[in-house]
Amino acid sequence: MKYIEPHAHMVSRTTDDYEKLAFAGCIAVCEPAFWAGFDRSSADGFRDYFDQLMLHEPRRAASYGIDHYCWLCINPKEAEDLALAREVIALIPERLTSPTVLGIGEIGLNKNSRNELTILEEHIALAAAHEQLILVHTPHLEDKYKGTALTLDALEAHGSIRPERVIIDHVEEHTIGMVLDRGFWAGMTLYPDSKCSIPRAVDMLDRYGIDRIWMNSACDWGVSNPMAVPRAVLEMKRRGWDAGRIRKVVLENPAAFMSQSRHFHTGIGT
Ligand SMILES: [Zn+2]
Repeated sequence: MKYIEPHAHMVSRTTDDYEKLAFAGCIAVCEPAFWAGFDRSSADGFRDYFDQLMLHEPRRAASYGIDHYCWLCINPKEAEDLALAREVIALIPERLTSPTVLGIGEIGLNKNSRNELTILEEHIALAAAHEQLILVHTPHLEDKYKGTALTLDALEAHGSIRPERVIIDHVEEHTIGMVLDRGFWAGMTLYPDSKCSIPRAVDMLDRYGIDRIWMNSACDWGVSNPMAVPRAVLEMKRRGWDAGRIRKVVLENPAAFMSQSRHFHTGIGT
């Protein structure tokens, strides 16, 4: 079945993974800027990383017939150093016109610290000033509920951010309700042993419906599975979902959200 992988860190993955995605029906992958598994020592590290996301990874994906898009930011794990974070943010505006950049992300909070919140607010202002979509990373485990609430508050406090142009990713059972109730999109991350399992994700779809929701593998350099979305399709089929509902979750919804960026051009057909 044709689908979109809306959150994957392909710079960490092998060409075998691209081949698997292509065989499974993936037509586009979207790659938010994130932590590399280590702290970069200067803004130059981000300059190279942004080039990798904007210039090199699309070519790798294209050789498997897959469109590649990206999001730019400094992630919350490296945002404690305000001077470095501001140097990186200053790199972003001139890159927003690059033809595969969809917006600002994945921004958010990690430990819910004061400095992380400051940089989150500066990213939100940047997105607003340049009319960019926003992709939000929410914290893990014990920090998730508070971090999600703080993030939604910061987005609403800005005053000119439209919630339908923001996706809050890595939602779980205790955060999905507040995200959808406040008008934002929700992303469910299917991880083998943290975040959200496939059965739990499909349970949430049964409970909350299939509007303004997408699913992703968030595959990266850690424990993760690039085939998570096709596996979720199998789970939905097992539960008797019809093809139209599955197609909406894994293809039409991500395309609808990202089509709010003029840079998204992947046709999904009918
Ligand atoms: Zn991510």
